[in-house]
Amino acid sequence: MAEPRSLRRTLESLDGRGYASYKQLRGRHDLGPAGLAVDHVQVDPYAPPSLMRLLVPREAADLPADLVDTAAGRIAVADFLSRRAAEAARRHGPDGRGAGEVSINRPGQEVLERTSVVIGETHVEARLHVALPAAGRRIRGRDAARLLTEVLPRLAEEALHHDALDAEALRAHVTLHRDQLHLRGQLAEAGLVAVVGDGAILPRRSGDSDLPMDSADAVPFSSPESLRVTFELPSGTTVTGMGIPEGVTVIVGGGYHGKSTLLRAVERGIHPHIAGDGREWVITRDDATAIRAEDGRAVTGVDISPFIGDLPSGSDTRDFSTTNASGSTSQAAGLAEAVEAGAETLLIDEDTSATNFMIRDERMRALIPADREPITPFVDRIRPLHAERGVSTVLVAGGSSAFFDVADQVIALDSYLARDATAEARALAEHPEGPTTSGPVFAGERRRVPQPSSLRPGRGKPAKARGRTAIQQDRATVDLAAVSQLVDPAQTAALAHALDRLDEMADGRRDVVELIEALCAQIDAEGLDALSPHRGHPGAMARPRRQEIHAALNRHRGLRLN
Ligand code: ADP
Ligand code: MG
Repeated sequence: MAEPRSLRRTLESLDGRGYASYKQLRGRHDLGPAGLAVDHVQVDPYAPPSLMRLLVPREAADLPADLVDTAAGRIAVADFLSRRAAEAARRHGPDGRGAGEVSINRPGQEVLERTSVVIGETHVEARLHVALPAAGRRIRGRDAARLLTEVLPRLAEEALHHDALDAEALRAHVTLHRDQLHLRGQLAEAGLVAVVGDGAILPRRSGDSDLPMDSADAVPFSSPESLRVTFELPSGTTVTGMGIPEGVTVIVGGGYHGKSTLLRAVERGIHPHIAGDGREWVITRDDATAIRAEDGRAVTGVDISPFIGDLPSGSDTRDFSTTNASGSTSQAAGLAEAVEAGAETLLIDEDTSATNFMIRDERMRALIPADREPITPFVDRIRPLHAERGVSTVLVAGGSSAFFDVADQVIALDSYLARDATAEARALAEHPEGPTTSGPVFAGERRRVPQPSSLRPGRGKPAKARGRTAIQQDRATVDLAAVSQLVDPAQTAALAHALDRLDEMADGRRDVVELIEALCAQIDAEGLDALSPHRGHPGAMARPRRQEIHAALNRHRGLRLN
């Protein structure tokens, strides 16, 4: 391992040489407070940055043992360190063009399992992207020396050594995370699909920001008395809020009264949020899945027959495939896929639904004879879905009373204030006993078995994420814009690798569920790094749920089944 001083001398001696000479940096160096592993050196200044890892021995990092003794604790501590490292990288940031830059993936409002900082058996490891300094295509040796032998050690000291951290803030971060997971663990036993805490700030600053709305403008959430629940948490604190019970919950209210904002917060409650986010105590069961219409998407071999019968095209809706789904068929497929992926709670907003999938009114039923209408609307299937499959629904429906007949709870929003309107809605229902459906409508599980190498037939370059909303794999683009519970581009980066791994794993024997289960088990055992062929890189992955892995696979236009 090279000494810090010799690394400085090497870099200074490279000053003015061609950029390619940087490649002699590959290998291990000693920076004093941390080791530096240079794993990949960019070939020119315009190529993606070099990949490096800072390695601090566990004894030197000195993280309190009781904070890192569980997997959840390590995730929360690593998240905290990632945030501090990203801040430090920015503080010591570039001094101008060509002077080089260090960056590390920065977490958003959620606390997710990530690869940017990993707490390993022997070391705390931070994975960095380093743009090495250049003047044109020549090395700027002195700037490089400053970056690697001054900025990086400082970053390691400030962000990866417990001494320099705010110990109380770190402990509070881990305690909150543990309390949130504990509360989630209590939901099933309490018969709830979600809790929305009293005092929560649900609205965001703007449509393109995930930060909370200013407290001067936001109306804090307050639970109706009849739905209020209380949880004692391991830290000794108590949380109260609105419990959304299993079954069918309908959210009603005038336009612009906060219905979608409430549902959106519940959608996001699948991940724990950081202190100050406003949604710390919006906690949702982690299988809950948002379903929406998504016309134009591809669908491969999905049984949508409970919702859609004989199509004019004559295609078999028990094994439905299309390269260009309609609003209603896309929503039906999304729902069937979510249930296949293990969803026991569906989250549906009228704003993003196909009306003809959701409801059909009496006069339309009179005009169009049942045998000319392939669609059985969701309102007729929502109760069998719960009775036969145990799947609950939380639904925003401000425009139709049709769901009054089938709702267990009706929550009304009035100027952002929630009220229990179940009794009033029931009094207005036309068929308070609910619709009668004959016989079971959800058939047994259909196994969907991917053909080997159907995702990457050309065995071209590895799949690559493009922002949060798209993945390029071989010739196919996987459009994830409608997958609203995918919250971080780092999750999309992980999904890209997951698709490559799934393609390698597909053996023509295991079905979609078994393959994704096997992949998730591997991540549980080996960490998120298991997804990438280059262990330790990229450091910009965050863990998606299995539901989002299903969503990406299901939207892949190359997917072929046996
Ligand atoms: P709806 O779905 O009922 O039409 P939205 O949820 O889209 O209404 O909310 C309408 C607007 O009100 C949005 O701009 C949103 O940010 C804002 N809003 C929602 N909830 C609150 C709240 N609790 N306090 C202040 N503003 C809110
Ligand atoms: Mg709305």
